[in-house]
Amino acid sequence: MEYYSSHISRLIEQLGRLPGIGPKSAQRLAFHIISLPADQVRELSGAILDAKLNVRYCSICGTLTDQEICPICADPTRNHRQIMVVENPRDLTAYEKTQRYEGVYHVLHGAISPMLGIGPDDIKLKELMQRLQGDVDEVIIATNSSLEGETTAMYISKLIKPVGIRVTRIASGVPVGGDLEYIDEVTLLRALEGRVEL
Ligand code: ZN
Repeated sequence: MEYYSSHISRLIEQLGRLPGIGPKSAQRLAFHIISLPADQVRELSGAILDAKLNVRYCSICGTLTDQEICPICADPTRNHRQIMVVENPRDLTAYEKTQRYEGVYHVLHGAISPMLGIGPDDIKLKELMQRLQGDVDEVIIATNSSLEGETTAMYISKLIKPVGIRVTRIASGVPVGGDLEYIDEVTLLRALEGRVEL
């Protein structure tokens, strides 16, 4: 038996496909959306489509941006010889919030995971190696301290070391398996400042 109109069922189904949204949350969100004024719903759906159509990956570091090159890569006051490697744009944002890191980034868009069948070619490693052909003093590996993050860190360091560039890893103290974005700024800064040579 269908409890709701097909329109509502469709909305609940779509919302339920979003990460972290269970059936109950999907239902609650759907009813909330229905209760909003039409203008507000138009604004919401417009923002979703607009973001999808206009946001792209920075051609240098791979983070999400509106332009060809993101504001960080385009900033001449940043240290472009120091590259911090992170798993995703959320981790980049976490480090940017500390306002203390002056280098640039490289976003891998994932981590190596033999269990999930994600290999080195499935993340933006080739792009990182290409960047290292320019003038680079240090690569700071800031992948998560999960099994995948550690595997990725080891892999990258083995790849880069022969190139003769300094490779460091952010200090542990970042909770094991903890997503960088959930860690407070003080802990992140301590991890950055206490980074060790690989
Ligand atoms: Zn960039």
